[in-house]
Amino acid sequence: METITSYVGIGANLGDSLQNVKYALDKLKTLPHTQLHSFSSLYKSAPVDAQGDDYINAVARLDTHLAAASLLAELQKIELIFGRERPFINAPRTLDLDLLLYGQSEISTDSLVVPHPRMMNRAFVLLPLLELDPAIHVPGAGVASSYMSMLTDQTIHALTKDNW
Ligand code: ADP
Ligand code: MG
Repeated sequence: METITSYVGIGANLGDSLQNVKYALDKLKTLPHTQLHSFSSLYKSAPVDAQGDDYINAVARLDTHLAAASLLAELQKIELIFGRERPFINAPRTLDLDLLLYGQSEISTDSLVVPHPRMMNRAFVLLPLLELDPAIHVPGAGVASSYMSMLTDQTIHALTKDNW
C-alpha cells in the first residue's frame, strides 16, 4: 500500500498533561507500518466548550501504510494505555488522539470522520498543524491558514523547550 501522510491531534488536560503528551509522542514512534515524520511544538490552550485545566496540545505527522480505520484503532490503543475514560462529552481527558487528516481522503463512517469535523474551528489544532505545513489544504474546507483569523479569541501559546 502507498504511503499516506496523516496528521494526529494530541491533547491532554488531566493528570501530568505535559508528561502524557510527551509519552504519547514516544508511543507514536512505535506504531506498526508507520513512521513518526515530525511533530509540532507543544502548546498550552484554554479548554474550548469544555471544563477543567488548560490543555497541552500538539500535532504529529505520521507517514503510514495503515488503513485509516486501523490507524484509528492504534491511536485508541494508545489512549487506553493512559486509562482514558469517557464519562461524558468533552470530559477532561488524560490523553486524546484524534485523526485529523488522512492524505486528502474524506471519510465518513459510524466510527471515523476525516477530516476531523471540528478541526477548522480549533486554534489548538490549526496552529500546530500549520507549523508542520503552512500551506496545508484540508479536503472540503480549503487552505487551513485562512481559518486562523477567525480564531483569535482562543487563548493558546507555544511552550518553549525550557518548559518541556
Ligand atoms: P472527541 O471528539 O472529544 O475527541 P472522543 O475522543 O471521545 O471525542 O471520540 C469519540 C469517538 O469519536 C471515537 O470513539 C471515534 O470512533 C470517533 N471518531 C470519529 N472520527 C474520529 C477521528 N477523526 N479521530 C478520532 N476519533 C474519531
Ligand atoms: Mg478524540
